Formats: sequence, C-alpha cells, structure tokens
Amino acid sequence: PNYPQAPVIRQLDETVINRIAAGEVVERPASAVKELVENALDAGATRIGIEIADGGKTLIRITDDGCGIAPEDLPLALARHATSKIDGSDLLEIRSFGFRGEALASLGAVGRLTVTSRARGHAEAAKVSVTGGDMGSVTPAALTRGTVVELRDLFFATPARLKFMRSDRAESQAVGDVIKRLAMAEPAVCFTLRDVSNGGEGRITFRADAETGDLFDALRGRLARVLGAEFGENAIAVDTERDGLRLTGFAALPTYSRGSSVAQYLFVNGRPVRDKLLYGALRAAYMDFLSRDRHPAAALFIDCDPQLVDVNVHPAKAEVRFREPGTARGLIVSGLRHALAEAGHRASTTVAG
Ligand code: ADP
Ligand code: MG
Repeated sequence: PNYPQAPVIRQLDETVINRIAAGEVVERPASAVKELVENALDAGATRIGIEIADGGKTLIRITDDGCGIAPEDLPLALARHATSKIDGSDLLEIRSFGFRGEALASLGAVGRLTVTSRARGHAEAAKVSVTGGDMGSVTPAALTRGTVVELRDLFFATPARLKFMRSDRAESQAVGDVIKRLAMAEPAVCFTLRDVSNGGEGRITFRADAETGDLFDALRGRLARVLGAEFGENAIAVDTERDGLRLTGFAALPTYSRGSSVAQYLFVNGRPVRDKLLYGALRAAYMDFLSRDRHPAAALFIDCDPQLVDVNVHPAKAEVRFREPGTARGLIVSGLRHALAEAGHRASTTVAG
C-alpha cells in the first residue's frame, strides 16, 4: 500500500488478542479436547469423561475428579497468561502438560465456555462463564468434586475459522484420536468418550487396570485396548537407557507393518508428540527389516530430565527440541534394532529347535 500518511498504531484489546492466540492453540474441536483433557490430567484426575456433540462443534464437555479450582481463582483460570503450573523461574523444569496459561482464555474468546469446579477442601462449588470473550461473574453451583468444563459453539465468534471445520464424522474421529493418544500415555487413568448427538452411541471406554500394580503391564494392557489385540500380540517390549534418556514401550514385529505411518505413537515425558526427528529414527530402526512402502507400528515413550528437552517450541506443544538430538535418535535406532534382532533370533531358534 501507498500511505499518504503513516497509519495509526493501536493496542489491541484483550478479546482480539485472545482470538488471535486461539488460532494457534485451537485449530479444531480435537485441539480443544486435547487442551481440556490435559488440564484434567494436570489436576491429577483418575477418571475423565469426554462428551461431544456434532463432532465437538456444538458441545465438548470434560468432567474430571481432579483437584478443582477455588472459587476466587476461577476468573484467573480463564484469564490469559495465568497458570498454577509454573512460576516462570525455570522454563526448563516443566513437568505438566500445561504451562502457557492460554487454553481457557483462548477457548472463552472463540466459544461459549463454562467452568464449574469444586476445589478439594472446599464446601461449595462455583462456576463462571465466558462467551466470545465476555466473562460473567462467579456464582455458586452444585458439584460434588472435580471440574466440569463445557464448551459450546466453538468458533461462533470467529466465523472464518468456523468455515474450516470438516464433517462431524471427521472431527469426531480426530477427537477419538486425541483421546487414544492421551489414554496410551496415562494407563492409570480411566477415560470415557461419548458422542451424545448419537443418543450416546459410539461410546469408548479405556478402563484403568487398578489390579496391575506394574506400570509396564498396565501399559501393555492399555495399548492392546487402544491399538487392538493384534498389536498387543505382535509387539515386543522395549526398555533401554542411554545418557540420561530412557526408552520404553512396545514396537511391532516387522511382519505386522502397515501401509501408512498412522500407527506410530511417540511420547516425550508423557506428552504425545509428532516429531520429525523421532519419526525418522523409527523409520531408520526398521530399515533393514521393511521395504520402503511398509511402515512400522509402535508406541514409544522417551523419558528424561525435563532439562534435556525443550517443550516450549510450538503453541500446541506437538514438537520438542532435545538438547542432544543425536542421543535421542541413537537411542531409538539402536534400542529398537537390538530388540528386533533379539526377537528375530528367538523366533529362528524356536523354529530350529
Ligand atoms: P495452563 O494449563 O497452561 O496452566 P489453562 O488456560 O489451560 O492454562 O488453564 C489455566 C489454569 O486453570 C490452570 O493452570 C489450572 O490452575 C486451572 N485449571 C484448568 N483446568 C483445570 C481442571 N480441569 N482442574 C483443575 N484446575 C484447572
Ligand atoms: Mg492447559
């Protein structure tokens, strides 16, 4: 443009800022579900209920039995850049899913959000609503424990984004995917997903196996439930360590390979990630065992001191940056090759013997 005069610069108001930020954090109903379920996990919930209608477009309701929010903190919980999870002194010591203090503010700016909560140790529950950025006042509510977050009409306040939503079916599939990933990462938590627009049909429940005290067994059981019994039968356990990074999980035998890479689930410190470096390492590990058009299936968990990995790379936190990427890659490549070679060796000796 050719300005006859320099344009006036103004400070944007809070709601506009929140809507812009929402564009990064909340792309579709599934990303709202991810943020809300992660909040429930951060609150120490052991049972999380997820209800959606019309693919999450008209309703997302998350119910948890976590620590709750004190009535006087409710307005702050919905404010931007307000969080109980970090004090800002060390961005390399993050152990929670959340830390940006943006999700609830973003969701309240682009939809109709109501948070009802009963803080542990409080006699009363309270609720507050925010619609398209306008917050009401905190009022008493009835709830025995935990938190219920209800998000209606996502993106009603940002019509441009509303147009980008896909069919109910596609959106609800994406929600299911998010729940599966988080359920894999948290085998001790019970998840129930229900589509209320189908009269409650299509309910998925991932029960927590409280009887199995062993986390590895719990993980095996949870993966078999989420990824199917066939994966469970064809997967070998991986548990190895190198230079402060630990790799655990299950990787399928090459014979159980897929035509696409959809069955690859990677987690860093319990956080589901889609990370090019890690996907590449997984491919490299199977290189000698699979042809180019086949893809391995695996659910792998890297755990390390939070200091060794930066999760503050991406607003949705889907990418991470390792301080020593070579170590992370090497751990996956050598850990899996070793496990696969051993499994192959066992198989061939069984046949021979
Ligand atoms: P962040 O998760 O990055 O802190 P959010 O906007 O998602 O930011 O949440 C803001 C705050 O609200 C959290 O730090 C937490 O204190 C509180 N909160 C949100 N959801 C829940 C929940 N389900 N249970 C308890 N507290 C919650
Ligand atoms: Mg959060």
